[in-house]
Amino acid sequence: MKILVVNAGSSSLKYQLLDMTNEEVIAKGNCDRIGIGGHIVAKTGDGRKFEADCDFPTHTEAFEKLVEVLTSGETKVIDSMSEISAVGHRIVQGADIFDHSCLVTDEIIDQIDDLAELAPVHNHPHALALRACKKVIPEGTPQVVVFDTAFHQTMPPKAFMFGMPYECYEKFHVRKYGFHGTSHRFVASELARAMGKDVKDLKIVSCHLGNGSSITAIDGGKSVDTSMGFTPLDGVIMGTRSGAVDPSAVTFVAKKLGLSPSEMSDYLNKKSGFLGLTGSSDNRDVQSAANEGDEKALLADDMLNYEIQKYIGSYAAVMNGLDAVLFTGGIGENSWEVREGVCTGMDYFGIKIDKELNRSTRGKLVKISTPDSKTEVWVVPTNEELLIARDTLAIVNEGK
Ligand code: AMP
Repeated sequence: MKILVVNAGSSSLKYQLLDMTNEEVIAKGNCDRIGIGGHIVAKTGDGRKFEADCDFPTHTEAFEKLVEVLTSGETKVIDSMSEISAVGHRIVQGADIFDHSCLVTDEIIDQIDDLAELAPVHNHPHALALRACKKVIPEGTPQVVVFDTAFHQTMPPKAFMFGMPYECYEKFHVRKYGFHGTSHRFVASELARAMGKDVKDLKIVSCHLGNGSSITAIDGGKSVDTSMGFTPLDGVIMGTRSGAVDPSAVTFVAKKLGLSPSEMSDYLNKKSGFLGLTGSSDNRDVQSAANEGDEKALLADDMLNYEIQKYIGSYAAVMNGLDAVLFTGGIGENSWEVREGVCTGMDYFGIKIDKELNRSTRGKLVKISTPDSKTEVWVVPTNEELLIARDTLAIVNEGK
């Protein structure tokens, strides 16, 4: 069975085609510059590659090109789209309407579009992609939607409500939703498998650290709290996002700089974080500048480690225990410096890592804690596309 996984943004369309008999990636690529030109990079699992400038006025033309590169030319991997059993789409915001993945209907596409106010950058493009995809796949090919927020729908109200007037929740749906749920769900189950335990018996703090970062408390396989909030701006310092700040600092700076609400939102989402503090949003630049003694880079690095430590401590407190901490995402999987920085001075929480092993671990599933560490510490590579494909397959099989 072959499953196409789609991750659509406002100007991009990333895809992977997986053969679910062995969960291998047969083809993957990205159509980007949609609406402002067009470009495609297509690769096959056996190393063939095609790259070209295109004309993508809308997502529909990008999908048409995607069909072309999958079914013809040097990157051909299938004879026709009828070989694809289903399409799974990543959706950023499902709010409190969607607490699990589901089959797509026209009504569901409209509901996803209606949530655009809560996720303006993502949900409308997702809806456009769902409608465009329907045009290029054979009639009757199921589409499934997998939500970043769904995993966090198990959070109790005390974790997801803000101390604002209740009408903000009732009228405007303002609450914590949390993001990266597909990743946190995937790595938690991978970790349980690696530990030889049932995820239902584990208290885990999952640290997904990348350009966007979120920390999640997972108790018995369920998200009970998470660091991102109403939007992905909340929580720890990120590449270009500030993370949590005192809301009064936001109104104060907006007034000082004469910024409108949407300009201030851009300031916090696109010009803050590592970028705003150090001049680069990339953790590798921050690490190398810190190694050379750059004070602002050292500060940014210290802030990230400190904030993650605070989340680990508070989540161990609310779960009343901690069996394992895991690191994932571009930074979590690759930066031994961040992992060492976070795990240093955490012996009160039973965290002790093998420094040598940690330093030599990159992008692999490895336990980096010492045998006598009360809390296990793991590096667990994430694979959101694989989880989307697995959900898609399971839902299609359920309907049979
Ligand atoms: P992601 O958003 O998950 O793709 O992660 C992107 C982040 O991972 C960027 O900040 C990169 O600098 C960081 N990253 C990737 N590789 C490394 C590495 N080898 N060492 C440190 N950070 C890395």
